[in-house]
Parts: sequence; C-alpha cells; structure tokens
Amino acid sequence: MISKSSFIRGLQCLKSLYLHKKRPFLRDPLSPETRAKFKRGHEMGDMARDLFPGGVLIASSNPRAYKKNLEEVNRHIQLQTPVMYEVPFMHDDLMAIMDIVTCIEGKWSAYEVKSSLSISETYLWDITFQAFVIQSMGLKDVDFNIIHINSEYVLEDDFDIHSFYKIVNVNDEIESRMGLLQPLLEKMRNVEKITSSPDIPIGKQCFYPYECDFKGHCWKHVQSPSVFHIPGFSEDLKYQLLDERKTSLALALPFIHDVKQKNIAMSLLHGDVIVQKNEISEYLNLHEKQILFLKIWGHRPAKPLNQKSTPFQFSPVMLSMCAFNNGIIENEKYIFFDLKDNYWEKIRDFSLTFRGYDKTHRIVCFACSSVLEQLENALQRIFGIERYSQDAIDLQYVFKKAWYCAPDIDFHSDFQAVASHFSDHDSIRLKQLFKLIENAEDNVYVFSQSPAGMEKLQSASSEWMKLIAEIWMKLSVNRG
Ligand code: SF4
Repeated sequence: MISKSSFIRGLQCLKSLYLHKKRPFLRDPLSPETRAKFKRGHEMGDMARDLFPGGVLIASSNPRAYKKNLEEVNRHIQLQTPVMYEVPFMHDDLMAIMDIVTCIEGKWSAYEVKSSLSISETYLWDITFQAFVIQSMGLKDVDFNIIHINSEYVLEDDFDIHSFYKIVNVNDEIESRMGLLQPLLEKMRNVEKITSSPDIPIGKQCFYPYECDFKGHCWKHVQSPSVFHIPGFSEDLKYQLLDERKTSLALALPFIHDVKQKNIAMSLLHGDVIVQKNEISEYLNLHEKQILFLKIWGHRPAKPLNQKSTPFQFSPVMLSMCAFNNGIIENEKYIFFDLKDNYWEKIRDFSLTFRGYDKTHRIVCFACSSVLEQLENALQRIFGIERYSQDAIDLQYVFKKAWYCAPDIDFHSDFQAVASHFSDHDSIRLKQLFKLIENAEDNVYVFSQSPAGMEKLQSASSEWMKLIAEIWMKLSVNRG
C-alpha cells in the first residue's frame, strides 16, 4: 500500500521508503520540533474546516476502518454531500486522505491544508498523488486546491478565517506533473517487492526537502568530526568529499581555508579550546557601563493571538531581567505582557525605555539578536517608529563568530551547549536545569495563563540568569 506520506518519502529517497516499510525500528526518534510541527499541522487542518462549515467527518483514526470509510465516501459521492472532512480515497494499492471535499451545485472541489506561508514543490507532488487516486476512483472534473496561511494577514478586531487562509487552485500544476507520476509509482512498487535495502548512497537527499528520519542508521559510518560539523562549508564540496569518502576532518583539513572554519576544525580535531582574545575583548567592551542580563520569553503562534500581529510573528510573553554587579545577580524582574489589552503599545513603551538604558547599561543576552530585530520590525510596521539597533551584547555571537571554539560547543552554539561548557554544575544537575528551562520555553504562553504557571516561568528564568552569569564571568576572563 502506498499512502500519500509514503509517496512523499519515496520521492525523497527510495531507500527511506524501503526502510519505512521493512525496517521501521531503525527510524530515529521524533524530535520535539517535528512533534510540534505535526501538532501545528493538525490544528491548522482542523481550523480550516471552518472555511466550509457544517461538513461530515469521514476518516477514522484507525487505518483498519478505511475500507468501511470508503463505502461511506461512495455513498456521500452519490448523495453529492456538500462538505466532507478527512475523506479517504483508495485505488488499487494507493491511498489518499483529502482534508476537505465539497460539492457545490454538482461541482466537486478538493482542498489540502498546509500550515505554512507558501506552496512548495513537495506540496504540489503531494496533491498530484491525491488527485491521481481521486480521479482513478472515477471522480472526474474536480477542482484541486491548496489552502495555506496568508503571510500578509494581520489580525484586526476579530479573527477573519477567510483572510487568514489563502486558497490556491493548483489544477495546472497537477496536470504538468501527472504524466510523471506512473513511472515514479512503479519504482516505489518495486521497492516494496525487494528483500534487501536498495543501494543508495547518502547525499543531499538526506536533508531535502526534510531531514530523513533514517539518518542515524545510514550515516553511522561517517567518521566524526566531519566537514558536516563546519558551519558555512561549501555544500558542493561537502558532498564531493562525501563521494570520495574524505569527509573526516583529518582528511578534509586541506580543503578548509576560511580562518573561522579552520579554528572550529582544529578545535574539533585536537579537542582544544581556541580563543581569540582581542576579538572577544573588543566585543565585550563595557566602557564602565552597568550590566543587565535580559531574556525575552515568547512564542510564534501560527494563528495570531493579539491584535496587529501576523502569522508566526514572534510575540513576547514575559521579559525577565536582572542587574549583575561584582559577580552578584540583583533586582530580578519579570514583566508579563497581557495579550488582551494594548499588547503592542506596551511592548513599544518597553522598547523605548530600553533604548534609554543604552546610555548607562550594557544589555547582555543570548541568541536574542534576531528576536530584538523582529520586535523592531514589528514596531516599525505597526507604529512607524524608526528602527533602532540596540547596543546589546549577544553572547551567542562570540561562538557563532568562532572567537571561542571548543569541541563540546557545536556550530549551533545553542544555550545548552555553551552553558554546559562553562558551568560548574555536574551533568545531572545541568540536565535538570535545561529541562526546567526548555519546558518553560515550550509552554511559555500556556504557563503565563495561570499563577502556578507564572511561578514556573519565574523559577526557570532565575536559573537561566545564573547560567548566563556563569558564561559571562568565564568568557570575561578571556578578554585580553
Ligand atoms: S538517510 Fe539518506 S540515504 Fe538513508 S534513507 Fe534517508 S535519505 Fe535515504
């Protein structure tokens, strides 16, 4: 049986399809990000039903019930039921479930919902496969559409679902792909028949369009550290070295010419800490100013929650800050932004206050540059306030620029890797602290809705402040 998702899998890599069917236990565990993406996809799919209200929900979550569901679908097709949701279609060994199907005055339309801001090539193949199954079942002259989130939507007084979603007719795109479908399906059917894994070498396809969930299995022979750990290393050269089995840093070193990349490579290869004191010193230069640690806790809801916001807009929920004097954390403060009243007005007022702080304080944060920039963009869009480049020190920058390279800080330079490197806590305690902080980051909006949740956020923030203080102090030692 080839379902829509196995078709997309096979399109990316036939070996992935084979492993999915025959060796599913080799799959990597789902990452929290992928799980969150799936959850968001389901929520957006459910919400889009309100574009065509009053429909009949067909699909059962139990795949064994699909056959019974199909009888039901056929009955509804005969009856020309105006709106159906989660509609299964089956033809030979192919199965598809269309999110929404409508019949208005005898004209059939099918809608696939995507929780993204645009239509990708993969989405077009996805709906081409579905169109093939539907047409093969005898339902002809159907209009096929992709529903996705409108990137230009701005929440005004009330949420308007018809402006939030964009409905795009993709009949032409389907037609141009339909002729290519049969040969692809044949290849996938053949893969289902073979008894050993197809001989497909690892390559670019392992990452595009999605990071393959059999990477752990297929890439286990790639020696680490490799050029895949070097940020910005030429994509083409990377895969050329992979073909030549020269990706290990020991062999690839002659191909690394950039100073930043070379520092990272040497640190990984020899397990050394490599520090560029002058650069760090210049960046952390304090000019006798007071230090203020800052963290903005927020989320990016697909459906905007507060007025004047756009889909996926970074929306602050809590701002935490503290002064840092002579190695001591002082005056911890937490400010919650209430979504209901004058949300962006309050953020604007805080932003203006912070601009004033620049004269007397250095604001120190971690991975905050893009968040601050996005907030400035939002304030410019909403109030026409001129953008202001906050003179904040983003400690992540030191690692991204490779001024401080250590083998245990990978090129993502995320907070956990950096804090683990500098903290005096043992690994068990650090694990507990990261869990606390991660939980607060993932649930910041939900937690902000109750006093108990707000307490959790404050305690996570307090631990975060202690960790950034440790990073700051130990990095400062490396100032020339
Ligand atoms: S990791 Fe790469 S080669 Fe292995 S199954 Fe996935 S895409 Fe194919």
